[in-house]
Amino acid sequence: MTFNYDYEIAIIGVGPAGIQAGLHVGRRKHRVVLLGKIEESALWSAHIENYFGFSEKVDGKFLLEEGLKAVKKFGIELILEDVVTIEPLDLGFKLITEKEREITSLSLILAMGVKRKKRCLDRKKGL
Ligand SMILES: Cc1cc2nc3c(=O)[nH]c(=O)nc-3n(C[C@H](O)[C@H](O)[C@H](O)COP(=O)(O)OP(=O)(O)OC[C@H]3O[C@@H](n4cnc5c(N)ncnc54)[C@H](O)[C@@H]3O)c2cc1C
Repeated sequence: MTFNYDYEIAIIGVGPAGIQAGLHVGRRKHRVVLLGKIEESALWSAHIENYFGFSEKVDGKFLLEEGLKAVKKFGIELILEDVVTIEPLDLGFKLITEKEREITSLSLILAMGVKRKKRCLDRKKGL
């Protein structure tokens, strides 16, 4: 059976994890797509104090934008849309974005960050 995938690797998430994954696989000349929104990364409005190579605090937005420039240099495609559906295929995956774009990929890397749980404050119970 042959199947023509749009990409060999799809990476969901445009934060440090997704960008770093893109840099690794893009350098190997794979056909890669990176999906998501850079400004939704937790790093976008943060300053980083403990990165190798930086002795002073570094602006998160700056790091992300530089990361994206590097990713583009390796020929990785960027789709600035959220993925709303991931459908496993016999081999590979079909992704559907918020703008109803359909993408097939043989492999998938999830780099969607974490959402912190809000503390449950129930004042009546004194919690
Ligand atoms: C104030 C602050 C200060 C910090 N300081 C430091 C520090 O000094 N040192 C340090 O190491 N870390 C620091 N951090 C933490 C650091 O920002 C995170 O560890 C890092 O951003 C996590 O990277 P990530 O790629 O895993 O996730 P994120 O940066 O959160 O990126 C997740 C990406 O996935 C995307 N995504 C999620 N769901 C979907 C979907 N369905 N479809 C498409 N895309 C999706 C998001 O839009 C986003 O682009 C700090 C964070 C904050 C908030």
